[in-house]
Amino acid sequence: MTATRVQPRGDLALMAGYHSPQLDVPVRLNTNESPVGPPTAWVEELAAALTDVAWNRYPDREALALRSALADHHATTVDAVFCANGSNEVIQSVLLAYGGAGRTAATFEPTYAVHSHLARITGTGVIQGERNEDFALGLDEVDRVLARGPGVVFLCSPDNPTGLVADPEQVVAVADRCAGAGALLVVDEAYGQFAPSTALDLIDDDRPLLVTRTFSKTWAMAAGRLGYGIGPAWVVAELAKVALPYHLDAVTQLAGRLALGHVEAMDERVRRIVDERGRLVAGLGHLPVRQWPSGANFILFRPDAARGDTVWQALVDRGVLVRNCASWPRLEDCLRVTVGTPEENDRFLTALEEIL
Ligand SMILES: *Cc1c(COP(=O)(O)O)cnc(C)c1O
Repeated sequence: MTATRVQPRGDLALMAGYHSPQLDVPVRLNTNESPVGPPTAWVEELAAALTDVAWNRYPDREALALRSALADHHATTVDAVFCANGSNEVIQSVLLAYGGAGRTAATFEPTYAVHSHLARITGTGVIQGERNEDFALGLDEVDRVLARGPGVVFLCSPDNPTGLVADPEQVVAVADRCAGAGALLVVDEAYGQFAPSTALDLIDDDRPLLVTRTFSKTWAMAAGRLGYGIGPAWVVAELAKVALPYHLDAVTQLAGRLALGHVEAMDERVRRIVDERGRLVAGLGHLPVRQWPSGANFILFRPDAARGDTVWQALVDRGVLVRNCASWPRLEDCLRVTVGTPEENDRFLTALEEIL
């Protein structure tokens, strides 16, 4: 018998899949994770609570306890909160509900590649808008993109990988324009806690705006896969329709709910990272690189006179892994460093100084 390979959807052949390569080096500053784990008290509470999980039963399909805790945390109502396995699943749910065949989603590049990647997987057409030369958003470009009629508009702020925070007045302007054009605006705030402003204040039942957040970065829980979106109840209801039944397992629900009892410890971690970011910015300021202003837990920079690939490899040779941004159009020779512990940041700065 000859082996028969069943062919997948033709358009999948064009997709590379999304991977962020990992290397086993002492200092890993490439995926924007928290450099330290969550509070020990939370780990102990979760371990104790696990003994009470009814393993033979399906979890709470509505994740009510978790969503109520998040609603309290953000001073909103439970029907305004949608939870999923990482904010990536929130984004996927948005595209399943508001994208799909015959519909389009818009991005402003360079930005988080998962937005357009998930659009393609869900059969949603992608309209690629471009950020300005300095990577800020331009309202002319927003108008140009909206004229093409996207069903969903993604705005990443702070933007990954540039670190730029959209000006709050501009976010209002984009939200108004999206409302006028009948598009759902998704503000991806995976790094929202590190930034001086948020779009959460703009959420209103009459505004087609969803803000997504994650436990992966600030909450030091990337291993747990929990993210959420906050928006009008009518949007949340549509997202719930496209989620798999019981998609959010009991342990994830528990982990998130218990984490919300440790807000102060998390705020303290954010403060420390923002301080360290300031130190990295100052350190990079003494080196021959261009850097972009960051409201996140990472910094994008470009060596003035050396190739990005060469510097990336030289850093790896010194035990420091950063993200090589060469695969992003317009980010040739750019590198992105995640803010680590003070020791990790020192090692990075020392290594970079040696190289340059
Ligand atoms: C890391 C990141 C996410 C987070 O994804 P999770 O699925 O929640 O881990 C979402 N958006 C952006 C821009 C990110 O950088």
